[in-house]
Amino acid sequence: MTLLHQFLRLFIFPVFCIKCSQAIRYSSPLELCLFCLTELPLTNHFELQDNLMEQRFWGRIPFHRAGALFYFQKGEYIQQIIYRMKYGNGQAMGFALGRLLGQALKESADFKSVDYLLPVPLHPKKLLERGFNQSELICIGIQQAWDKAICTDLRRIKQTKTQTQMGRVERAKNLESAFSFKSNHPKETHYLLVDDVLTSGATIEACGEAILKVNPKARISMATLAFADLW
Ligand SMILES: [Zn+2]
Repeated sequence: MTLLHQFLRLFIFPVFCIKCSQAIRYSSPLELCLFCLTELPLTNHFELQDNLMEQRFWGRIPFHRAGALFYFQKGEYIQQIIYRMKYGNGQAMGFALGRLLGQALKESADFKSVDYLLPVPLHPKKLLERGFNQSELICIGIQQAWDKAICTDLRRIKQTKTQTQMGRVERAKNLESAFSFKSNHPKETHYLLVDDVLTSGATIEACGEAILKVNPKARISMATLAFADLW
């Protein structure tokens, strides 16, 4: 950002923190002031084995490690930020959040062996509607902080119904054969599945299953921006 831009931003088009409404005096793609940025509810999952996110996948799918960057609570500003990424200022916010996630992953010894970032894919029709896949934006952001390649071998071949009102069994049924995986990577490749918010985990689990069906020796880890309590 040039000095002129900073001047314009400060005096003509001031940007306000979405949490505390204070004017932001520097470039902030997350639309948060420095104070509110440091107040974001970090989970410390990447340093913590057997964390809450991993517990959610116990007994469902074999995996190496899993973690989310933030706790997600309905009505809290982390929800606002993710909503804005999906429906508003998508790109800049997705990259910025991805960079934060990438930094946390890079600092964790347990994720060092990851070979590829694998964004949870959208169905082509949904992609056309939205214009971008938020998981891909997050992966590009991760790459800016952590030097890992992005794998695009996973596809969403079935459009699924909205899952918010479904129980776990219904979700799994809804997602059955929703994803297809085709890849030339070596057998023991370690994939990091990336998504925005983890709720039931059914989507990311279905992605993992699609990979393991084709390559049972693959290693799967999972990372999301936020981890939601099941309400
Ligand atoms: Zn603030």
